[in-house]
Amino acid sequence: MKVTFPHMGPLWIPLKTVFEELGTEVVVPPPITKKTVTLGVRHSPEFACFPLKVNMGNFIEAMEHGADTIIMAGGTGPCRFGYYAEVQREVLLDLGYNSEIIVLEPPQGSLRGLLANIKRIANHKSWTEIWKVIQLGWQQIIALDELHKLSLKIRISEKEKGATTKAYEKAQVLMVDARTFAGVAQALEEGKELLHSVNQKQLIQPPLKIGIVGEIYMVLEPYANLEIERTLGEMGVEVDRSIYLGHWIKEHLLPKVFQPKDVEEIKRAALNYLDHFVGGHGLESVGQTILYSQRNFDGVVHILPFTCTPEIVAQSILPEVSKDYQIPLISFSMDEHSGRAGFITRMEAFLDLLSQKRESKKLSGAV
Ligand code: SF4
Repeated sequence: MKVTFPHMGPLWIPLKTVFEELGTEVVVPPPITKKTVTLGVRHSPEFACFPLKVNMGNFIEAMEHGADTIIMAGGTGPCRFGYYAEVQREVLLDLGYNSEIIVLEPPQGSLRGLLANIKRIANHKSWTEIWKVIQLGWQQIIALDELHKLSLKIRISEKEKGATTKAYEKAQVLMVDARTFAGVAQALEEGKELLHSVNQKQLIQPPLKIGIVGEIYMVLEPYANLEIERTLGEMGVEVDRSIYLGHWIKEHLLPKVFQPKDVEEIKRAALNYLDHFVGGHGLESVGQTILYSQRNFDGVVHILPFTCTPEIVAQSILPEVSKDYQIPLISFSMDEHSGRAGFITRMEAFLDLLSQKRESKKLSGAV
């Protein structure tokens, strides 16, 4: 069995670790490029969500590199994510790929099915061995999240454009080779040192602060979001991302007692506008926008794949939230046709607006 999986930010690092440590051969899909997207778009239904199309491109490229088994997450609705694997299975069959797709359904779907699939991918190793490897992957996820948060802080004041991104990429490479608990801890420390060694300049005034909300794939995958965090950071903006992999896993895959504290806080914040789960991160996009306003952020960027139903619900509510909480907000609905030039122009106009708003607050004595 040669397994592969879709890209989503640095997710490939813990997945590669877990599968290889369980004795399964791994084919990591090549990094996402224009070719990946073109392949995915060509072979996906036109109505499909953008992440499905990019995943399809990942799978085709991984098959070309020898993968024969795809590991894919499942879903229980209400959005279309639960159909992803089925659609992809049919398309790959039509294309002549004799691949198997193993769908890891969430525990709320079928716990027995999930455990059986894990046992199979783990070459029927004991649960003690499997648990140890899962913990190692988990430690990598937490460490990668920490490195990412640090990179966002460092980038704002880097002297040389791109230096933080280079250091962050090197830190990720260190994590790829960390295959023990001590190794992960050491890779984290070395990664932090790399980031702290980026030359910093003195900031003349406090940077604008922007929160990013939206659909998880678009928020986590830099190719899909046109490298929004890097772009904003290099413009001197402090960025806070509302979704992290570790947080998502705690919220959706672990028992309720492990739920992060802010899960209920986000729901409470959104309550007056949206009082139920609408799939994906629709509810969180609304709640997080309100929380960013309460934390005195200058603005919020909402990113969603074109036609994403949960985020369309959020998009229809967010203008009212923005008005009520006086927090400027911009939505980017993205797909394979999104271009960087238009994105930058809109972003620059948004930043101008935020700077003006801050200036007028200063003049009126509000800050
Ligand atoms: S959250 Fe949106 S983009 Fe993701 S699967 Fe659901 S509908 Fe598609």
